[in-house]
Amino acid sequence: MWTATVLTLFPDMFPGPLGVSLAGKALAGGLWALETRDIRDSATDRHRSVDDTPAGGGAGMVLRADVTARAFDAVTPLAGRPRLLMSPRGTPLTQARVIELAAGPGPIIVCGRFEGLDQRVIDARQLEEVSIGDYVLSGGELGALVLIDACVRLLPGVMGNVTSSDSESFSDGLLEYPQYTRPQVFEGLAIPDVLTSGDHGKVAAWRQAEAERLTRARRPDLWAKKGLTQGAPKRPKNATDG
Ligand code: SAH
Repeated sequence: MWTATVLTLFPDMFPGPLGVSLAGKALAGGLWALETRDIRDSATDRHRSVDDTPAGGGAGMVLRADVTARAFDAVTPLAGRPRLLMSPRGTPLTQARVIELAAGPGPIIVCGRFEGLDQRVIDARQLEEVSIGDYVLSGGELGALVLIDACVRLLPGVMGNVTSSDSESFSDGLLEYPQYTRPQVFEGLAIPDVLTSGDHGKVAAWRQAEAERLTRARRPDLWAKKGLTQGAPKRPKNATDG
């Protein structure tokens, strides 16, 4: 079974939001598993200390290498599993990486705290640093919850409608087209006619065009990448962004 193992100083933060809705039902139903390990249980001194002052001076504290390594080495199984460290210095998490992680056995995720983790344990245990965005959180736990949530919804049987992830944002390098549902008219605004026309070909073409328009306008970085990998669709002469 796909299992996420989380090393944290705050195991009470789990499953947290992963205990409700689709992820929570799937967790209770045995479609995936979550194991939390308290890093503090690997402390050996009288005060159970896990952190110390930064070598070289400066503000804050650093999570100790020896304590974290001991907690990490106690994980079973270790072999063949992605070894992640949540870190603002890491490779930004993408849907492509999420798809890979969801297809594997499930990652071991180390959650940093304080000013971060002693570099030696990152090197010695070959931890892959993963960031959830260019901002600084107070700990890796929220990042781990984000990463696990993104993986779990892709596991077989977790989402009601299996096909609903096929066209969603990032799956084909595009943002998703806009969605509508009843009522037919909301505050004088009607659902676009094409969506209620019953013409599946026209609906598909409209959605593709909208996905391309939104991606070009909002995420020129994604649009440029798409151009490099598969040749961006031609931009109509009279097109306007936004
Ligand atoms: N001093 C560090 C920040 C430490 S924040 C720096 O400037 O790089 C404390 C912990 O929160 C980190 O060790 C990491 O585990 C987590 N964290 C903070 N921001 C994150 C982000 N954007 N993505 C993933 N984890 C993050």
